[in-house]
Amino acid sequence: MAAIVLKGSKLVKSMGLELATRAAALTAEYAIPKLTIVRIGDRPDDEAYERGAAKRCEALGIACDARVFSADISNEAFLDAFNQINGDAAIHGILVMSPLPAGIDQQAVKNMIDPVKDVDCMSPVNMAKIYSGDVTGHAPCTPSAVMELLRFNGINISGRRVVIVGRSLVVGRPLAMLMLVEHATLTICHTRTRELAAECRNADILIAAAGRAGMIGAEHIKPGAVVIDVGINVSEDGSLLGDVDYQAASEEAGYITPVPGGVGAVTSTILARNTLNACEHAKWGYSSRPLCHCGLDSSAGD
Ligand code: NAP
Repeated sequence: MAAIVLKGSKLVKSMGLELATRAAALTAEYAIPKLTIVRIGDRPDDEAYERGAAKRCEALGIACDARVFSADISNEAFLDAFNQINGDAAIHGILVMSPLPAGIDQQAVKNMIDPVKDVDCMSPVNMAKIYSGDVTGHAPCTPSAVMELLRFNGINISGRRVVIVGRSLVVGRPLAMLMLVEHATLTICHTRTRELAAECRNADILIAAAGRAGMIGAEHIKPGAVVIDVGINVSEDGSLLGDVDYQAASEEAGYITPVPGGVGAVTSTILARNTLNACEHAKWGYSSRPLCHCGLDSSAGD
């Protein structure tokens, strides 16, 4: 039987009203919530992501601008400009498109960014909070989008076997931490994993975040499993492909996310939500409300 398709659009629509209401309240009572995207150079994938984020923010009543720097900017000039953006009280959220070019000190940027404005979790402060199960920091947008998709579709995580293929600092690892908070029994796979298909077949919930088009096939999937495809790979003809062989996997899985239209569709809404969280934090003060409104069970691990 074909899998049930978990479309991101339904979740995006459902989150929209609440987020737009919060943005309108902030605009009326405090300030227009504002996200600034910082980009060096003109990589097409960065530009595409930026356009999507700007469109989503605009639809929700959040201001979004891009500060674009030439690819040959010096480290000193960039850090100086970044420092000004970081200190601008009218900017509530900052997204730095990464990786930054080789000549730019990315670690310095990570250390500089105000953790409250750090809406995609690049600051070591927010990273540390994710790893210690502290819900008062921003969780990164893509792992949060995965968690929200599961929650929205009523898929229970507690006690279930979750296998994540990919251990990057932006997706696989923080997602693993969010899964642990929700009491998953967790396996993380990577390029040195032996018997990848067998590991994956243990999964009640299989997350593919490797960046290898179509690498997860029917042989990786336990019948009826939930398959979440985080991968975004651009094919030769320019179309987007996930890490999962969608046709083959649909025959085995119980639930599956499409690419495009799955996790990626939710990410920019999470970015907008994190910006609202940051703006509310700026309004109310640091201790009044947790930044990480992703429904995490903060009692986990107690
Ligand atoms: P990354 O930094 O390249 O990390 C890829 C991870 O996958 C690494 O841990 C790597 O293992 C592992 N891997 C690669 N090939 C593998 C294989 N054949 N078998 C097992 N493991 C393998 O990529 P990333 O930044 O995490 O992104 C992953 C994917 O998610 C990409 O397609 C990216 O475009 C997509 N993405 C999507 C969104 C979204 O909003 N949907 C956002 C961000 C990224 P090693 O550690 O051993 O090298």
